Amino acid sequence: MTRRAAITGFPVAHSRSPLVHGHWLAEHGIDGSYEKVAVSPDAAAAFYRDFRESGLVGCNVTVPNKEAAAAACDELDEAARAMGAANTLWLDDTGRLIGANTDGSGFLGNLDQSLPGWDDGLSHAVVLGAGGAARAVIWALLSRGVKTVAIVNRTYQKAADLKARFGPDSIACHWEDLDDLMGTTGLLVNTTSLGMSGQPPLEIDLRNLSESAIVADLVYVPLETPLLARARARGNPAVDGLGMLLHQAVPGFERWFGVRPRVTDELRALVLADLGSQA
Ligand code: NAP
Repeated sequence: MTRRAAITGFPVAHSRSPLVHGHWLAEHGIDGSYEKVAVSPDAAAAFYRDFRESGLVGCNVTVPNKEAAAAACDELDEAARAMGAANTLWLDDTGRLIGANTDGSGFLGNLDQSLPGWDDGLSHAVVLGAGGAARAVIWALLSRGVKTVAIVNRTYQKAADLKARFGPDSIACHWEDLDDLMGTTGLLVNTTSLGMSGQPPLEIDLRNLSESAIVADLVYVPLETPLLARARARGNPAVDGLGMLLHQAVPGFERWFGVRPRVTDELRALVLADLGSQA
């Protein structure tokens, strides 16, 4: 019988996940489908609670439903528990709904593939932003053993809330603290929406940043953001956001369809072409 999975959330029309999973299904010759299922915030609690009736073997969850999905699960992996949000669900052999959060491991997988050894001796990191994506990146960095993660956000209270969630190895900071933090950080990650097409630019001063510090941007439209271009121009290693999008999809596919897929240049090119065609 065809195994069906889906992206669920609201809206889902823009999602590239069907392209990614469709590519892997074809590559491995699997009798499966990956669909788009719009689940409005009002309907989310009931949809995930009654997931067994959907006919799906599992699903991805996108904004704004990640918290509601986590709340409906019978069991969560460590990352989903720490973040209070799930982006990958599946039914186990006994029909229990299991939730995972793969955004953080996707972030790490992208860095591991793009810059092997990136975390050797990395002590301090700066994360710009305190939204859902920041939560995943902070969890990922702390789980990799980074000693301190400074959370810099326009709205200080949100940084403080994340600091309260993640504990003493995270620090809540004001935007004005950024210049001082630059000199000691080995990794700077933009998790804000600044720099994305249609959003204001990310205007920060990189003057104090060490030339060996890695700069990562989660924004992937455009792929080469002004932040990444400026970082590369001054010699910093720079990593774009597309790889995270692709790597976070790997564990779900493996759960639903039984094969661990690879993130290849061919897949990157496929998604890039699609992003370009709709830019
Ligand atoms: P979110 O929860 O809405 O958080 C948005 C963040 O951006 C907040 O920290 C917000 O600060 C900040 N921000 C927005 N406008 C700002 C402005 N004008 N000035 C200063 N800060 C501003 O969004 P999210 O889900 O975390 O996503 C953030 C970005 O990451 C998006 O561009 C998304 O596409 C990208 N993303 C990429 C991946 C990937 O796989 N590459 C995965 C997830 C997300 P305040 O708290 O002050 O509002």
